[in-house]
Amino acid sequence: MQKASIPQTLADFQKEFSQVKAPENAVTFNPPTPETIAIGEGKAIPLITICPPRINTGDFFDVLKQVAGVIKKYKPELVPEVAQIEAALPEGTAERDLFVSQVFNPEANLLDDLGQDLPSETFGFLINHAAKPFMIQYGQEVGKLYDLEQWLKGECPVCGGRPTMALLERDTGKRLLYCGVCEIKWRFQRLGCPYCGSSESQFFTVEGMEKYRIYFCDQCHGYIKTIDGERTSAAMDLFWEDINTVQLDILAMREGYLNQQVDQP
Ligand SMILES: [Zn+2]
Ligand SMILES: [Zn+2]
Repeated sequence: MQKASIPQTLADFQKEFSQVKAPENAVTFNPPTPETIAIGEGKAIPLITICPPRINTGDFFDVLKQVAGVIKKYKPELVPEVAQIEAALPEGTAERDLFVSQVFNPEANLLDDLGQDLPSETFGFLINHAAKPFMIQYGQEVGKLYDLEQWLKGECPVCGGRPTMALLERDTGKRLLYCGVCEIKWRFQRLGCPYCGSSESQFFTVEGMEKYRIYFCDQCHGYIKTIDGERTSAAMDLFWEDINTVQLDILAMREGYLNQQVDQP
């Protein structure tokens, strides 16, 4: 297949997001007992369910404001929607605390809680990007509780999300999956689809980008961009690998496969 071009503004936009950081020690959680950890690993319960993150409300709203600023700068067409959302956010201390705890509760429906008719795609984009720096910090700490070599599931052991990318390890050829939300990696079986569990494995490569494979599944029509570790020597930042290979997403979608992790307004 032929290369497609990368939208430069997307890279700039993502670069600014990646510079929005949570303050140090912004995330805490109640450490679970070894028994709870064993049950969680055995039943494949993501850590966010057994020891949810606690986030300082003021820190979260500071980050949210920065993220809103980045969106307004790069997507001027969204300024009215972002302003509408900001105006609808809770004001009182107790309401804000509750709101922040709901952001990190996978079961919550924040839009329903706000009780207003807000533009849902932009709302989701804003909240997900504001939560991300906290999820990264949370993942770094909480991820140590599970044996990530033994997880072997198609969902992230920290947040329960779907993987964004995969990496075939140099020498061993073992496969790691990567979560674009909390940025952790875990072991998965070498072949088969992480999205639907089908055992089939087919991939294509793109001329000039031979270090990547795009594995696709004809059962669920998912695809996953995969770095072939044999063809690269440098340590990789999968966040940037994901952004810098958006042309592979475009090609896969053109072939009729679905992005399992859509998160763009
Ligand atoms: Zn995750
Ligand atoms: Zn599948």
